[in-house]
Amino acid sequence: MTIKELFSSLHLGPLDHSGDQAGTLAVTSPIDGSLIGHVKMDSPQSVAEKVGKAVEAFAIWRQMPGPQRGELVRLLGEELRAHKDALGRLVSVENGKILEEGKGEVQEMIDICDFAVGLSRQLYGLTIASERPGHAMRENWQPLGPVGVISAFNFPVAVWSWNTALALVCGDPVLWKPSEKTPFTALACQALFLRAAAKFGAAPDGLSQIVIGAADIGEALVDDPRVPLISATGSCAMGRKVAPRVASRFGRCLLELGGNNAIIVAPSADLDLAVRAIVFGAVGTAGQRCTSTRRLIIHRSIYDDLMPRLKAAFERVTVGNPLEGALVGPLIDEAALNAMDKALERARAEGGVVEGGGRVLADRYPDAFYARPAIVEMPAQKGVMMDETFAPILYAVKYDDFDAAIALQNAVSQGLSSALFSNDVREAELYLSATGSDCGIANINIGTSGAEIGGAFGGEKETGGGRESGSDAWRVYMRRQTSTVNYSTQLPLAQGISFEL
Ligand code: NAD
Repeated sequence: MTIKELFSSLHLGPLDHSGDQAGTLAVTSPIDGSLIGHVKMDSPQSVAEKVGKAVEAFAIWRQMPGPQRGELVRLLGEELRAHKDALGRLVSVENGKILEEGKGEVQEMIDICDFAVGLSRQLYGLTIASERPGHAMRENWQPLGPVGVISAFNFPVAVWSWNTALALVCGDPVLWKPSEKTPFTALACQALFLRAAAKFGAAPDGLSQIVIGAADIGEALVDDPRVPLISATGSCAMGRKVAPRVASRFGRCLLELGGNNAIIVAPSADLDLAVRAIVFGAVGTAGQRCTSTRRLIIHRSIYDDLMPRLKAAFERVTVGNPLEGALVGPLIDEAALNAMDKALERARAEGGVVEGGGRVLADRYPDAFYARPAIVEMPAQKGVMMDETFAPILYAVKYDDFDAAIALQNAVSQGLSSALFSNDVREAELYLSATGSDCGIANINIGTSGAEIGGAFGGEKETGGGRESGSDAWRVYMRRQTSTVNYSTQLPLAQGISFEL
């Protein structure tokens, strides 16, 4: 199916963008390097205008009752259901992930819409016992204002929906700056949103808007004091720039940054399960998930059993065109391939033994960048293992003592996802205790990637501390207000303070 046919199967017409012609962005497919099309870019000035529109939309949308806001999100979910295959395919074409994962990403969008519809009737506050007679205290949750969403290339559509479905039911408009590597999927989402909004009939203009461009356009959003919340997903380097800028204007940040995720494999582990989970975690999405498995910490007693099985599985993995049934698609661009090559070179220099890696399919796809996944046996956890390389590289080290394994796992600067394979209940509970994994996600007998939307998603340390998606992540999109009502004829002061005039 050509891109044109794909667009028309989404019934989107020619995908256009109302940037102010500050320039155009040429977008290519990582599958074969072919040109998908050009998109007009925004300028700081057009971003400011769009923020103004979002502010106007907020004044209307915040007055709409939550369950009615939920109805718009229900309609958005319906559009996504109807176009799951075509949008999933567009994700694969623009981002390079395999079709199965492209469609899985759209399913995630549908799931979060369902979640948000239910949530629209459950934006609960508390009633709180007041210490003063004749007083009632409670907590109200109010809409916050326009939310700026900055997203990464690797989940080009799901991250928008995690934020937008919740923001909309919470009463907030959204301004989305997608990755400059994946603007067409963003325009497709916006077109589906506009169709849902037309069916809904009462959505104000400017409730959902897109801004297109690179870091400078992201910064225009980040610096605008009319945007009280910036939800930014991407590298730790990006978060390091964004967070202080937002803090300097006392804005709120929801940061979803890099990961360096480990799996500990203990002596009692079910190795069949472990192999499947490790391989999916390490090579799935060509190692380009924030939750990809990058480090393995294996008990010495099972190391020689597990490693050959993993190496055999790595060899069986098919690398190729993600639309034609391969399990591993291309890396996003040449810079990603160079970063992978460099990391493997460094691993060798640090005493690692590398199997796999290296560019493949260069003859068939000279303008695309496919690599064989690599598995690297390291003498110790050090150097290159401490960084996130956004590519399918899995490092393995041995451990003897369970506490030392947890310490190794926690020794990196990121704290996103983690997993333990063990059938020992003491180990499992210790891993999930205060002295266990320090990550936002800690799993037992499943891998590090592939989270469900029902839980709060995010991580600690340099991963940024943000939580989005399920559980009570909605609260960051709202303004908490504590209110006390005096229904007595007296005016007692808190803490029993006497202040007689
Ligand atoms: P990136 O940091 O290069 O870009 C992410 C987004 O930030 C893009 O839209 C980019 O234009 C924007 N950006 C960059 N600099 C900016 C600035 N100074 N101000 C405002 N915006 C700016 O990341 P990427 O290569 O697209 O994605 C890969 C990274 O994202 C990996 O580190 C991965 O772990 C991380 N990631 C994290 C999560 C999570 O939920 N924790 C999810 C997906 C990806």
